[in-house]
Amino acid sequence: MNYDHILIRYGEISTKGKNRKRFIDQLKHNLKLVLTAFPVLGFSSSRDRLYIKLNGENHEKILEKLSNVFGIHSFSLALKCKSELEEIKNSSLQLMTEKYKPGNTFKVSARRADKTFPLLTNEINYAIGSHILQNTDGLTVDVHDPDIDLRVEVRSEGTYLTCKDYQGAGGLPAGVSGKAVLMLSGGIDSPVAGYYAMKRGIEVDAIHFFSPPYTSERAKQKVIDLARKLTALGGQVNLHIVPFTEIQETIQKQVPESYIMTSTRRMMLKIADRIRERQGGLAIITGESLGQVASQTLESMFAINDVTSTPIIRPLITFDKTDIISISKEIGTHDISILPYEDCCTIFTPASPATKPKLEKAERFESFLDFDLLLDKAVEQTEIIKISTSDNQDYERLF
Ligand code: ATP
Ligand code: MG
Repeated sequence: MNYDHILIRYGEISTKGKNRKRFIDQLKHNLKLVLTAFPVLGFSSSRDRLYIKLNGENHEKILEKLSNVFGIHSFSLALKCKSELEEIKNSSLQLMTEKYKPGNTFKVSARRADKTFPLLTNEINYAIGSHILQNTDGLTVDVHDPDIDLRVEVRSEGTYLTCKDYQGAGGLPAGVSGKAVLMLSGGIDSPVAGYYAMKRGIEVDAIHFFSPPYTSERAKQKVIDLARKLTALGGQVNLHIVPFTEIQETIQKQVPESYIMTSTRRMMLKIADRIRERQGGLAIITGESLGQVASQTLESMFAINDVTSTPIIRPLITFDKTDIISISKEIGTHDISILPYEDCCTIFTPASPATKPKLEKAERFESFLDFDLLLDKAVEQTEIIKISTSDNQDYERLF
């Protein structure tokens, strides 16, 4: 089939009046990043549509990638022709001739975006419909439940003919809502939290706390692979790998066992907040889910959260574990998350952490040490890995 374009319908943009231009520019930017493997594609946009000109590129892989990009309501392969009635009739017939099987029903749905076009919507439908009926065999019209809905969008720069809609991922283009840092462990929850944050338009920088030699290079690779999965949703992810060994060993030595976990989390959050500030982020995202483990009781969160007044976004806070697991399978992060390489928390987790830690106690235990110096050092020595979709060789469909 000689489709030459992909027509993209925007997601929630209709409610975002003033931000329309920013939404479109960001979506175009994200699409270019996600489709860098296809350098000949052409991108253009109008108020309500974005177009990708295929320039001979095979569309299969492109459609697959589009289904994961946030900010898209739906998309279709399209055939473009001049906005002249004869041209539209001929192209419509050509498309239907290749598409239909005898016995099929069809309807024509015109959309007259170019208000100067000489025919009204119903007149266009009629002209094209009758032209198709006259020149084909075994096709009939069914306006209620047709096998083929031929959509005809008449615009000043050309007319786009489409037959099938693919569902987009919805949400807002990653980046339109600003930037935040995602605390990305190697576990199941935090990549899912990142997915939901990106879905609401947040551009994420990921932060991972790494404690060699207690945690292995493979644990680090696992987090790189998880971050790479997230790039398929709309862009690039910078991954900050924070050396955390010295801080964990210090906490281990100095803080009573039942408060190790609380203090560890408080230090992680302090560092995450510093990195956030450096990167110009406005929030911290975590994969916490209420009641899941000792660090995720309300009391724990109260004691941990106290180290910062930065908004903390916890997309999964009310989710059940089983739901999180099924979403992680859908977005393709599950199989990476369940690889056995331990992260720093698992290794240093005491047998019986306090489930109701008191803020004053945590503060007192920490006051005997100069953690600030250690935190500065960890931030200084943080490694930043830029991960982009073009590295994404082993791409698989997320939805
Ligand atoms: P996950 O499945 O995301 O690892 P979890 O159920 O294991 O979560 P915790 O270990 O309590 O729960 O971690 C809670 C959150 O803290 C994680 O979702 C993540 O956002 C953050 N976190 C934990 N460990 C790390 C780490 N090593 N590096 C970065 N963030 C971390
Ligand atoms: Mg974990």
